[in-house]
Amino acid sequence: RAKADGRGTYRFFEPAMNAAVQARRSLEIDLRRALALKQFTLVFQPQIRLETGEVSGFEALLRWHHPERGLISPATFIPLAEEIGVIVGIGEWALRTACREAARWAQPASIAVNLSPIQFRGGKLVETVTLVLAQTGLDPARLELEITEGALLDDTDGVLTVLNGLRHLGVRISMDDFGTGYSSLSYLQKFPFDKIKIDQSFVRGMAGSAECGAIVRAIARLGASLGMRTTAEGVETADQLDAIRAEGCTEVQGYLTGRPMPASEAFALLGAGAHVSDPPVSDVVPAEA
Ligand code: C2E
Ligand code: MG
Ligand code: MG
Ligand code: MG
Repeated sequence: RAKADGRGTYRFFEPAMNAAVQARRSLEIDLRRALALKQFTLVFQPQIRLETGEVSGFEALLRWHHPERGLISPATFIPLAEEIGVIVGIGEWALRTACREAARWAQPASIAVNLSPIQFRGGKLVETVTLVLAQTGLDPARLELEITEGALLDDTDGVLTVLNGLRHLGVRISMDDFGTGYSSLSYLQKFPFDKIKIDQSFVRGMAGSAECGAIVRAIARLGASLGMRTTAEGVETADQLDAIRAEGCTEVQGYLTGRPMPASEAFALLGAGAHVSDPPVSDVVPAEA
C-alpha cells in the first residue's frame, strides 16, 4: 500500500519534474558548447582600498550570454558546469582572459579570479596558472586567486599542497564568502590566506542586526591580527560603507563603489587614475581611444 501511495505521489509530480529535467538537459547541452561558441565574457568589479580611496584592483566575474535565454547568472551555470565537468575549461579561459586584460592596464592593479573546488582536482592547477602567467606576462604578485571553503572541504591536505604551490609562484590567495561555511575559522589556521572576503550577508545585515556588526568587527580584527587584509563584499549604501570603515575592514567591494563593468570601462577607470570620488565611469575618456 505504501508503494502505491508512493507511486501516486510520484505520478503527481511527474509532469513538472520532466519539464525541469528537460530544461536542465537543454541548458547542459548549451553549456557544453558555450566556450567554443565564445558565449562567455568577463566583467570587472572594482575593489577599493579604504585608507586611500584608490582602486586596488578588480574581481573578474563570468557572464554567459545565451543566444535565446539572454544573460545567465554564474550562480545558475557555475554549479551546473561543475557537475558536468566543464568548469575546468571555463575556469582556465576565465583565468587567461582576466590575466591578459590586467596585463594591459596602465596601473599595476590586482586582478582577482575565482576558482572552483573542481579546479583543485586532477593535479594540474599549478601548471595551468604557471602557463597562463607566462603566456600573458602578468606579474604573479598582481594575481589574486579566490577560493571558497568548498575547495578545502573534501581533501584538505591535497588542496593545501596546491595552495602552497600557487603561493610559491608569487600569487596571492583570498578566502571568499568568509563566514558562511561550517568551519571557516579552522581554514585560517591551516593556510595563511592573504585576504579574507567577508560575505555580503553580514554586510547587508549590519543595518538591522547588532550581531552582524559584531561579526564584521570580529572578522576585521581577526584579519588584522593574522596579517590578512579584509574586504567587505556587497556594500550598497553609504551607511554600510561608514559602518565597515568603522569596523576596520581594509577594502570594500560593492555596488556603491562600482558595479561589475565591461573590460573597456575597467581599462578606462585605471587609465584615468582611479579614485572613489572621481566622476562616474561613463564620463571618463577611455585611454585607448
Ligand atoms: P563571488 O565571488 O562572491 O562574487 C561576488 C558576487 O557579488 C558577484 O555576483 C557580484 O556581482 C555580486 N556583488 C558585488 N557587489 C554587490 C552588491 O553591492 N550587492 C549585491 N547584491 N551583489 C553584489 P556574480 O557576478 O553574480 O557572481 C556570483 C558568484 O559566481 C561569485 O560570487 C562566484 O562565486 C561565482 N563566479 C563568478 N565568476 C566565476 C568564475 O570565473 N569562476 C568561478 N569558479 N566562479 C565564479
Ligand atoms: Mg569571488
Ligand atoms: Mg564572495
Ligand atoms: Mg559568492
